[in-house]
Amino acid sequence: MVAVLKPGTKKQQIDNLSVWFKSRGLDVHISEGKTHTIIGLIGDTSKIDVELLEAIDIIESVKGISDPFKSANRKFHPDDTVVEIGDIKIGGGNFQFIAGPCSVESPEQILGIAKRVKAAGAALLRGGAFKPRTSPYDFQGLQADGIDLLLEAKAQTGMPIVSEIMNMNHLPLFEHIDIVQVGARNMQNFDLLKELGKTKKPVLLKRGLANTLKELLMSAEYIMAGGNSNVVLCERGIRTFETYTRNTLDLSAIPMLHELTHLPVVIDPSHATGMAKLVRPMALAAAAAGADGLMVEVHNDPANALCDGAQSLTPDQFDEVAAKVKAIIEVLKQ
Ligand code: PEP
Ligand code: MN
Repeated sequence: MVAVLKPGTKKQQIDNLSVWFKSRGLDVHISEGKTHTIIGLIGDTSKIDVELLEAIDIIESVKGISDPFKSANRKFHPDDTVVEIGDIKIGGGNFQFIAGPCSVESPEQILGIAKRVKAAGAALLRGGAFKPRTSPYDFQGLQADGIDLLLEAKAQTGMPIVSEIMNMNHLPLFEHIDIVQVGARNMQNFDLLKELGKTKKPVLLKRGLANTLKELLMSAEYIMAGGNSNVVLCERGIRTFETYTRNTLDLSAIPMLHELTHLPVVIDPSHATGMAKLVRPMALAAAAAGADGLMVEVHNDPANALCDGAQSLTPDQFDEVAAKVKAIIEVLKQ
């Protein structure tokens, strides 16, 4: 349930009303919008008398919210959330590129790629140190050494880092990682989500291979319910009956999520398609459909990459894709 307050309501009046709601066992989520302040009520609202609420002089209207996700709901928070990493903003009209290799492989590899994607306009560097591989015999990532190499690349280029966490016991290793990625396979690792909810770290939450948008939003809700609202959603393709592409990119997730939630939405065209040649068209389409950013795998030597070479762009290809995407973003602003 949300109570929309009349414009001009004073802070003291909002505080008094919040105390009253809390005394009835409800959690209160206050969102100060451009024109209206909205008080979102989380918990069992069945005993709240809507007519009584509507009679309170500072309340303009009361609306029920049947969706199970509350904090992530746009009805609770009509304005776009902007996730900030230093002076880099994602969401609310701020588009960003996250680019880098699937896995960190060596100091030369990660630093060389970082410099190239930065020059092409990427604000954030991605690189996997802990890799969720289907086969236990495949390269599992450089692990803690990989994190060190990412932090070295950050020190040398100034680029904030996005890297995947697979185990909550590794959280201390991610202290200086700027955005913690929860991969598709961990989207419903609720213990991990709860731990991330206790931090203020920005989280890039990827949609699971076979998860609905509602389930993605419920996973975001786990992080937000703990007090961390720095969540960026990522659509990375879902499993369908199609086999030519690695996954099927659900581009309609962009406008649908924008309607349902205030959280930023980023598209990963690399894992979505599994093929470098499909990354460019899907990246352009995602930008045109209103994505708040793109996460693209880029490798200096895709043919010899230790992970996901077939879907990795070369730095030259990324230059070209980034330039075209920027042109689309400019057109959308007109
Ligand atoms: C990744 O981004 O490196 C990754 C493993 O992605 P996903 O979880 O979407 O498969
Ligand atoms: Mn990958």
